[in-house]
Amino acid sequence: MSKVNTVLGAIPTEELGVVAIHEHIGYGMPGSELDTKWWKTPERQYEETVPKLRQFHEYGGGTFVDATGICNGRDVDYYKSLSAKTGVHIVACTGFVGGDTALAHFARASVEYLTRQFVHEITVGIGDTGARAGIIKVGVSRGGRMTDLDKRIYRAAARAALATGVPIMTHLAIDAENAIAIFAEEGLPLDRVLFGHVDDGVNFDKTRDTWIAEQGGRIGFDTFGYETELEDPPFWARPRKERLDHFLRFIGQHLDKALASADANCSPLGWPGVKGHTVNYIFEDLFPDLRAAGVDEATITKLFVDNPAEFLSIRN
Ligand SMILES: [Zn+2]
Repeated sequence: MSKVNTVLGAIPTEELGVVAIHEHIGYGMPGSELDTKWWKTPERQYEETVPKLRQFHEYGGGTFVDATGICNGRDVDYYKSLSAKTGVHIVACTGFVGGDTALAHFARASVEYLTRQFVHEITVGIGDTGARAGIIKVGVSRGGRMTDLDKRIYRAAARAALATGVPIMTHLAIDAENAIAIFAEEGLPLDRVLFGHVDDGVNFDKTRDTWIAEQGGRIGFDTFGYETELEDPPFWARPRKERLDHFLRFIGQHLDKALASADANCSPLGWPGVKGHTVNYIFEDLFPDLRAAGVDEATITKLFVDNPAEFLSIRN
């Protein structure tokens, strides 16, 4: 029986249910916790987060994958209490959102050091929480090209994925040639990698989603809801219909490789966040949009239950 590490322990893959594959309990750049302008009390974070997770559970949401890497406000004891209180399975990650979010201590680390860190968080636990990471986060730093540190992190992630069987998710799928070369050198099958953010408004035209899928990679349309139609859209917003059409075109060709999510923050750290955007966009907006476009229930189940279950399962 295959399993997935959640913050409350490993569970059988069949229990994941509907999965939000790329979300955040809270996300902030390293150091934001020291900024009094943005600092939030634990009570306020809890108050902002619990209703969203409860609503997610009520809609039929099963599992929330937190894509917040080391140094970005990841707080696993807090996640454990949120999961216990709301009944939502929470999968925490090891790894870094990108090299430019790694603090100096890690920024100078070798591939071997980073590999040990990731493997420890997956097999022993994160800090002293006893909770094991269920996925490894990596990413491309700002600038659009992988830095040397990004490459060390990708290589360490590949080694940790091979050693432990957990998958990898990426922040951005630009410069994928370099990423795929590293995974190939390390012998990691590309179906263990979810290349994320292929749908965002800044990078979609530089992202070779079909090419990556043809080589076996999984593709994340995971910024649903960041729309130019919002009152105060973020710089990575995109017209709602344009994103949906892109997704529909992709699943018409590569349904097996597609995953989707909203990349929302339950309680943003160190920035105002995008007002009103939550993980529940999946149920409140995306599912209705898909149905209106003629997508059937079996396809929705494939995208939000079967594909994530196959991807998240620890592979021995
Ligand atoms: Zn994210």
